[in-house]
Amino acid sequence: MIVVMKKGATPQQIQHMIERVEALGLKSHPIYGTERTVIAAIGEKRDEHRQSLESGPGVAEVVPILAPYKVASREVKPEPTVVRAGSLTVGNCNLGMIAGPCSVENQEQTISTARAVKAAGATALRGGAFKPRTSPYSFQGLKEEGLKILADAREETGLAVVTEVMAATDVALVGRYADVLQVGARNMQNYRLLEEVGKEGKAVLLKRGPSATMDELLLAAEYVLNAGNPNVMLCERDIRTFESHVRFSLTLSSVPYLHERTHLPVVVDPSHGTGHTNLVTRMAAAAVAAGADGLMIEVHPDPETALSDGYQSLNFKQFEELMQLCRKVADAVGKKIA
Ligand code: PEP
Ligand code: MN
Repeated sequence: MIVVMKKGATPQQIQHMIERVEALGLKSHPIYGTERTVIAAIGEKRDEHRQSLESGPGVAEVVPILAPYKVASREVKPEPTVVRAGSLTVGNCNLGMIAGPCSVENQEQTISTARAVKAAGATALRGGAFKPRTSPYSFQGLKEEGLKILADAREETGLAVVTEVMAATDVALVGRYADVLQVGARNMQNYRLLEEVGKEGKAVLLKRGPSATMDELLLAAEYVLNAGNPNVMLCERDIRTFESHVRFSLTLSSVPYLHERTHLPVVVDPSHGTGHTNLVTRMAAAAVAAGADGLMIEVHPDPETALSDGYQSLNFKQFEELMQLCRKVADAVGKKIA
């Protein structure tokens, strides 16, 4: 249920209704919009309290939430959420550009990439220190040493750091170094991890699982939001299909679909989404045209020698070309690279 307060409802009336919702055994989730405040009332048997809440002071109406996700839905918060984390701004008219290596391999590789992507106009640095690899024999990441390298790169370039956290027990450690905690595709439904990143307070980039539906993605985001963290970005990185000419199938229709259903910003990752360097730039531009609020692009000084995902990484020159093309498309669709 959503308790929609009248325009001009007083802070006392809002507080009173939050307490009423909680006294009924429901979880209250107030959202203070520019136009008006709404209070999402979440819990079992919530509809039976509808009438009693409707008579509360300052209440305009009480409406059921139809979507299975509540706090993530547009019904609860019509205006788009803008997520800010250091140099990165994502959402509404702001197009965030997150770029960097798949894995942090060493100081030189990471710092030189950070410098190059910043010079080309990126607004955040990505890089994995904890790597989810299909094979236990593949490079697993430098872990805390990698996090320190990322923090050094931020120190030098001013770029916000986006990096993956794979386990609930690592959230505090990764949170000490990162500006944005990335939850990877394989972990989208790791609910303990989602709760922990929700409590940590840093912005979260939640990647879609390769077999997850839109509803499952939004319900996963709901775990983070319910833990008290409103700064969630969804990341479309695509699903596994029968098609074999790409690593995954990039379903860009999810961008406008998600914008209809949720206020959360949508970032697209055409690097994992295609799995081929030569497809990344044009799919990045297509994502911006589809309304993406951000892009995440893998960039490496020498993709051929990368310890992970070199076959889908851009070199510095290719990234510069991507930025030039995306800037033009962003201009055309009314977005600015923040
Ligand atoms: C990554 O961003 O490097 C990564 C491992 O992504 P995904 O979780 O989408 O596979
Ligand atoms: Mn990768």
